[in-house]
Amino acid sequence: MQLLYYPDPRLREVALPVPVVDEDVRANAKEMIEIMHAHKGIGLAATQVGWNRRLFVVGSPEGEEGRGLERVFVNPKIVSAAGAMESEEGCLSLPGIYATLRRSSMVVMEALDLEGRTVRLEAEKLLASVIQHEIDHLDGVLFITRLSPADRQRVKKQLRELEEKYRPDGVR
Ligand SMILES: [Zn+2]
Repeated sequence: MQLLYYPDPRLREVALPVPVVDEDVRANAKEMIEIMHAHKGIGLAATQVGWNRRLFVVGSPEGEEGRGLERVFVNPKIVSAAGAMESEEGCLSLPGIYATLRRSSMVVMEALDLEGRTVRLEAEKLLASVIQHEIDHLDGVLFITRLSPADRQRVKKQLRELEEKYRPDGVR
């Protein structure tokens, strides 16, 4: 498993549900947590490591004290959302690109945990933003598609640089 970068076409694929939460799923989730920390991220979706399944991990970048508090959400669904907020987002798959996005300020999510139990989570602020960002990934949506026209213009050159740097071999 390794982190995929824009414009890898696998980042645009819609992920499939995890059929059963088994040892393989737990092992992959553990590897994803390591990758997230190695890149100092606070969230990582399975599609970002080339695993086309509906699962994401969240964690804290705050040094060691956040270790062990990571959470894994399998087959996540937002069951309700409310409010609006603007916050700055970035993405491990789009290094160096940051922009302010408007999203719901509160979401209620249902998912399975790594034991296959249903969990329900009410999240706001940063966690709400991370959840919406990661579920977008599972639908093949990168945050740059949600930018305002002005921001899209602002990051155009950086996107072109990423396209040059990370374009998969043979794809033109
Ligand atoms: Zn992302």
